[in-house]
Amino acid sequence: MMGGHHAMSGAAAWLAITTPVTVGSVNLGFGALHMERWETLAGAIVCAGAALLPDADHHNATIARSLPPISNILARIIGKVAGGHRNGTHSILGILFFIFVAWLADSWSMEVSQLGVVYPGAALFAILLISFAVKSVKFMPPLLCWVIALAAGAFVGMNAPLERAWFPLAVTAGVIVHILGDMLTIGGCNLLWPIKIGAPRWFRRIPVIGDCWKANGRVALPILAETGSKAEWILASLMTSYVAIAIILA
Ligand SMILES: [Zn+2]
Repeated sequence: MMGGHHAMSGAAAWLAITTPVTVGSVNLGFGALHMERWETLAGAIVCAGAALLPDADHHNATIARSLPPISNILARIIGKVAGGHRNGTHSILGILFFIFVAWLADSWSMEVSQLGVVYPGAALFAILLISFAVKSVKFMPPLLCWVIALAAGAFVGMNAPLERAWFPLAVTAGVIVHILGDMLTIGGCNLLWPIKIGAPRWFRRIPVIGDCWKANGRVALPILAETGSKAEWILASLMTSYVAIAIILA
C-alpha cells in the first residue's frame, strides 16, 4: 500500500473506533471511546502517522523522507535490525514493540506550573508521527512538514484526549491497520516473523488460494493486487469519503 493510503487508513480506523457515525439507519463507527471533537481529531492525525510506522524499515518510504536526514538514517538502521522490508516491523513482534515504545513515551509525565500535568514523551512521539502523516501528502516541502508537525504536536500535547490510554491505543490501531493494508496486497506479511513457515509447493499450486500463503512464510488476501493498483485507489477514495463524513459528524 502507498504511504498516503496507509495514513488515510489510520485516520479512518481511529474515527471508526471513537466516533459513532450513522448515515440513515446504518452505523459506520463503533464509538467505543467517547471523546470530544478536538480529541477525536488529535487522535486521528496521530493514528494516521502511526499507520506509517511499520514502513520505518524501508529507506525509500514516506516515513524515511519525513524529517531528513535523521529519518533516512533511522530507516536504514531499523531496516537492518528488522530483517529488511516487510519483516520485523510487519509482524506481531513488531506490533508489541511499537506498543511498548508508545507506552514508554506515554508514561513520562511532569507537573508544570500553570499547565498542570503534561506528557512530554507522548508529545514528542506525536510530533514525529504527525510529521509522517503530513509528509504522506506528496507535494509537502520538508520545512513546511516540520512546521506543521511542531504546531500539530503542540496541539496534541495541550489537547490530549482525556483517556490516558489514548496514545498507545492510537499507535496500536495505526500499526495494525498498516499491516492489514499490506496483507491485502500480493506481497503479504509474515505475522510470525522471525519464525518462517513457508507454504508447501502443492499448496502454492492451488488456483486462487495458492496466492494467499507464500514460500517465504508471508500470508496475504490479495484483493488489492499490486501496491498502487486501481483497486487500492478505489479503497483509498472510500476511506477518504468515510474520514470526511466522520469528521463532519464527529
Ligand atoms: Zn508496509
